[in-house]
Amino acid sequence: MKQCTCGSTKFTAHQICRHDIMVDGDNNFLMDVGIYDSETPYEPYHCARCNKEYKDLADLPEVDDTAAVPQESIGSASDVEAEQRDPGRGK
Ligand SMILES: [Zn+2]
Repeated sequence: MKQCTCGSTKFTAHQICRHDIMVDGDNNFLMDVGIYDSETPYEPYHCARCNKEYKDLADLPEVDDTAAVPQESIGSASDVEAEQRDPGRGK
């Protein structure tokens, strides 16, 4: 996983998505139902912490993402994996 020079591994980016929506009988938009297709995110990337701009995340330094994955991004990973915190990360 790439990280900003400030240490953050979260970035804002652009992405083209297609949504499922609900319409009324006149084909007017009523509500968003969900994303059914999404493309690869693209630049500009902005660091979510310090707002530094990048054109390509590939130029950024690599970080060991086995220790840096935030818990909310683990998703469907097993509970065992989610609880394996690296004890050496504290200050
Ligand atoms: Zn940053």
